[in-house]
Amino acid sequence: MAMDYTRAVKYFFLADFAKGMALGLKYFFAPKSTLNYPHEKGPLSPRFRGEHVLRRYPNGEERCIACKLCEAVCPAQAITIDAEPRDDGSRRTTRYDIDMTKCIYCGFCQEACPVDAVVEGPNFEFATETREELFYNKEKLLANGERWEAEIARNLEIDAPYR
Ligand code: SF4
Ligand code: SF4
Repeated sequence: MAMDYTRAVKYFFLADFAKGMALGLKYFFAPKSTLNYPHEKGPLSPRFRGEHVLRRYPNGEERCIACKLCEAVCPAQAITIDAEPRDDGSRRTTRYDIDMTKCIYCGFCQEACPVDAVVEGPNFEFATETREELFYNKEKLLANGERWEAEIARNLEIDAPYR
């Protein structure tokens, strides 16, 4: 009787071991569900809200018309704008700052903008070593816009039917 009990326990553990091995082999050959970041990156939604940019028109003119809607709507009060009229009567910003340490990436600034000037682009890799580097000014935001314009224009086009 004692022998039968020992044999049953052995079979039980062998069956469990075989099941474990089968499971291991199944996932060994299955497609990987992890990514080798930063060499591999996952897909991003066209609505992804990453680092902010200020965009230009194709002729190089700034899109922003200094209406200050983004500044007014920002719940974190992260945006600071100064503006002056130009000689040609158009109104443009003389200062456009975003304190990225305050931003909560809500996207309200982008939604409020009547000319798609301020946009949260697809860049999510903008960690810095110092706090000061996260105080963005107009030059930095326009440079971001030039860097990401192709991706942003494509994302806005994809999202246009739902806006
Ligand atoms: S994403 Fe939201 S919190 Fe950040 S700057 Fe725009 S409105 Fe302000
Ligand atoms: S970025 Fe858009 S919402 Fe903000 S001031 Fe310029 S035009 Fe107005």
